[in-house]
Amino acid sequence: MAQRDYYEVLGVSRDASQAEIKKAYRKAAVQFHPDKNPDNPQAEEKFKELGQAYEVIGDEEKRAAYDRYGHAAFEGGGGGRRGGGFHDPMDIFSQVFGGAGGSMFDDLFGGGGGRRRDPSGKKRGSDLRYDLEITLEQAAEGVEKELEIEKYGSCSKCSGSGAKSGGGGAKPCSTCGGRGVVGQQRGIFIQQATCPECRGAGQVIADPCSDCHGEGRKQGAERVKIRIPAGVDDGTRLRSTGKGDAGLRGGPAGDLYVFLSLQPHDVFQRDDDDLYCEVPLPFSTAALGGELEVPTLTGRATMKIPAGTQGGTTFRLRDRGMTSLSSGRKGDLHVEVQVEVPTKLNSDQKEKLKEFTESIGEKNSPMQESFFEKAKRFFDL
Ligand SMILES: [Zn+2]
Ligand SMILES: [Zn+2]
Repeated sequence: MAQRDYYEVLGVSRDASQAEIKKAYRKAAVQFHPDKNPDNPQAEEKFKELGQAYEVIGDEEKRAAYDRYGHAAFEGGGGGRRGGGFHDPMDIFSQVFGGAGGSMFDDLFGGGGGRRRDPSGKKRGSDLRYDLEITLEQAAEGVEKELEIEKYGSCSKCSGSGAKSGGGGAKPCSTCGGRGVVGQQRGIFIQQATCPECRGAGQVIADPCSDCHGEGRKQGAERVKIRIPAGVDDGTRLRSTGKGDAGLRGGPAGDLYVFLSLQPHDVFQRDDDDLYCEVPLPFSTAALGGELEVPTLTGRATMKIPAGTQGGTTFRLRDRGMTSLSSGRKGDLHVEVQVEVPTKLNSDQKEKLKEFTESIGEKNSPMQESFFEKAKRFFDL
């Protein structure tokens, strides 16, 4: 099930302070409290969702983990491999809380079913993270991408079972006695560590597959296709279920999380679903009115400029912005015109401008008039 962004659930910005988060949570929790909404399953659902979001975002440590890994930080996943730019957050939490088995983490977040040992030695594969930068145009249109990912894939020789075909099932690991962990002496303490023989599975294959040495999976590069929907933004996370590391000995695969970022654009700035740009406007067009060609994401458009347009005026082109990821509606394009003054005038042109200036008189500069009205007392000094 796709989970909503916790910041979105609470209706706060990503840089909100703890006080703002608390306030937003309280306000919403009061509104959707089951006591106030009897027989309203939607309100109850919303209330639960708020609680989940606040449990994480309202706690600095969990919030930091969420900011880095998203929902992946709070979902079950087997540990083991590190590297490749992605650390399994479950492992980080095991370290933070000093437990080897992650039970503390399970208690805190009420999940972690994937962590429990399967008697067959199966173990869920790790979730993976991939950082992907896309262009504004790709974010606007949506795009299909093929990613090359270094990961554990299911072993084709043994179909992921880890056993040589026709022989050898699983038997308890003799090194750890099937517990998957071994005790290591550290000073006066005995610390538990993952068993090096069975890698925490608790089982070894009696007659292991020669290709994967009984793991049922092998590391390698794999191509994964993902569809990026129109409207994604900087910080959008996409989950590709089952595209993470293959599980140990046929265990379920982890998920792949794609963290999106947007390349800065030469022309457009984005704010939510709206786009902003600045376009130079010849001063004669500003004075006389006329047409101005402006860029849009889908090509050029022509905009009508009324006579007497001042520099800095913003025009809005409806539905020329980004598509909203949640509603599918289009945002607007805001075009701010910058009146451009010619820099290379020949003597004839200069003469004409001087004539023009004399002809126009004093009563034709509305901005100047109101400015001098306001600034009068300074000039009168
Ligand atoms: Zn194999
Ligand atoms: Zn073992």
